[in-house]
Amino acid sequence: MHARVALGQRRCSDGGAGRRVGDPNVARIAIGGFMHETNTFAVQPATYQDFERHDAWPGLSRGQALIQNLRDLNIPSGGFIAEAEHDDHVLVPLLWCSAEPSAQVTRDAYERIADMLCSDLALAGALDAVYLDLHGAMVSEHLDDGEGELIARVRSVVGDTLPIVVSLDLHANITDAMLQHASAITVYRTYPHIDMADTGRRAYALTRVLLEGQRLSAASRRGEFLIPLQAQCTDLCPAERLYQTVSDLSGRDVASADLALGFPPADIAECGAVVLTYDPDPRRAQRAADRIALELERAEAAFDDAMLKPPDAIARALAGNGPGPTVLADAQDNPGAGASADATGIITALVAARARRAVIGALHDPDAAAEATARGIGAEFEWSLGGKLGLADQPPYRARFRVVALGDGRFTCHGAMLAGVTTALGPSALLAVLAPGCDVRVVVTSQRFQCVDRALFHHLGVDPASERIVVVKSTVHFRADFDAIARETLVVEAPGSHPCRLETLNYRRLRPGIRLGPGGPLHDVREDLASSDAILDASASK
Ligand SMILES: [Zn+2]
Repeated sequence: MHARVALGQRRCSDGGAGRRVGDPNVARIAIGGFMHETNTFAVQPATYQDFERHDAWPGLSRGQALIQNLRDLNIPSGGFIAEAEHDDHVLVPLLWCSAEPSAQVTRDAYERIADMLCSDLALAGALDAVYLDLHGAMVSEHLDDGEGELIARVRSVVGDTLPIVVSLDLHANITDAMLQHASAITVYRTYPHIDMADTGRRAYALTRVLLEGQRLSAASRRGEFLIPLQAQCTDLCPAERLYQTVSDLSGRDVASADLALGFPPADIAECGAVVLTYDPDPRRAQRAADRIALELERAEAAFDDAMLKPPDAIARALAGNGPGPTVLADAQDNPGAGASADATGIITALVAARARRAVIGALHDPDAAAEATARGIGAEFEWSLGGKLGLADQPPYRARFRVVALGDGRFTCHGAMLAGVTTALGPSALLAVLAPGCDVRVVVTSQRFQCVDRALFHHLGVDPASERIVVVKSTVHFRADFDAIARETLVVEAPGSHPCRLETLNYRRLRPGIRLGPGGPLHDVREDLASSDAILDASASK
């Protein structure tokens, strides 16, 4: 395989010259990533162009551009690169890409990207290890387990014995195929995800262990109930306590311990929380997995998935006193969980309540942003804002608007989660709803963006700390930057395509016997399951 490296595409392959493969002190490690969180109840698919485009995160990056674009960012690859370079290992960059969460990844996007990654890997020359930066809840048009299939393909390129280390999002739905084909997996431990780079560092530490020749046995346990995202925040109990246990055990009782809380809006058989441990001693690995699983089971009743109806939340916000805004999480229209970010139920509720000093971020309507940009600051115009999916419960909001401010959608984030990231959201505008007795303004962007950073508002001249109500289209991540200014935070149940009441969902592929939410009803075998199983079998056999 070394001869094929002579294509000269990768400077870092020079580091292989004269080096002894298998030396843990100077290893050649391939690095790649393909990230998507798939909400199978959403409508818009993820296309190849969505992965290619720079949004909140860098666009598709191949070869040395991967290192340049991801180094120093709070994403797993950033942490892995820092550690590997510190130890003078040779990184062989393959391909990294991500797209905003959405409905299924198209077959075209999946196959093109997987093919590029695997062909780059086949050309990479002799390697000591592979590191993959994945989400772990990717569903494509033709595969229920996008990452399991990808790791299997990578395994088929590098053979049975080469270490493949994978990092996954806390919202991963970890599958048996992922466990089978990866040598080791580690998972974010915070939600908001402020430890993404740290997770990459842990993945590097596991890679080191494997490079030194240690063999790790895995033990895993599946949770017995789905946990909606609004109940998963690790700043709150019980998730905070659970992850404390995970951190305490990891590296002390076992080589590695992790817990993925799962992504419930992915309707696949293996959806849900998974405990995962690794250790040279399989009995120790199993004991630690059992202990965390027991703690998860005992915590079930403590997961708080409550949401308030918009009129109740707004009334409470308007009645409140004290400094700082009430932050309303419009959780069901969170684009970070695959929603369209153009649902307008919360605007209707704010105007009906005659709310004042209220601002919403960020509603996705590229046409509205373009219209506002063309008309200029101060212009007034009639518009049907958002509601582009054509769903009965998510209509456009028809009103007259004034253009208050314009922006280019480029700003640098400063919150703990995306610090240092420069966005590229395209033309953006702050529009005031012209309705009697209220002061409601809406940040409109050309690309979907989960409102996780105050910089979104600052770039349009709004200081959210001075507002009375700040609505964020986010479920939990916003807390990393908005908790510092929030007088109170409320989760609101306005319409959107990220359904948070799991017992109302029409799951078709989810395994029977799991509970739909903490203390929720058991998922039954549906009459249509036989046909769903046939589809699953076909996917699994590919
Ligand atoms: Zn996540």
